[in-house]
Amino acid sequence: MVGLKGSILKRGDYVAKARRMNDEKIMFQCPGCGHAHLVDERWDFNGDFDMPTFHPSVLVSKDDPKRRCHSFVTDGKIRFLAGKECHHDLAGEVVELPDL
Ligand SMILES: [Zn+2]
Repeated sequence: MVGLKGSILKRGDYVAKARRMNDEKIMFQCPGCGHAHLVDERWDFNGDFDMPTFHPSVLVSKDDPKRRCHSFVTDGKIRFLAGKECHHDLAGEVVELPDL
């Protein structure tokens, strides 16, 4: 098994950026909010838990500007929309999703 930076992972070191919670929901850890975000069957998922892509965008707390978080997850990276679309410091940034 080859890790993200080409290192060989030992058995038990397996990491992923998304995890299935149950039959309906998949979660990932949001580096902007610091909270888990959930997607379900309304989203398209590429089936890759190491390099997940969800479509369309993930919008959390859209009616609360202090908690709002709007992002696109593509190939294991998360792109946060800028301006009032995100309340946190990563608005407008693209970062790697953290390993779970
Ligand atoms: Zn978030």
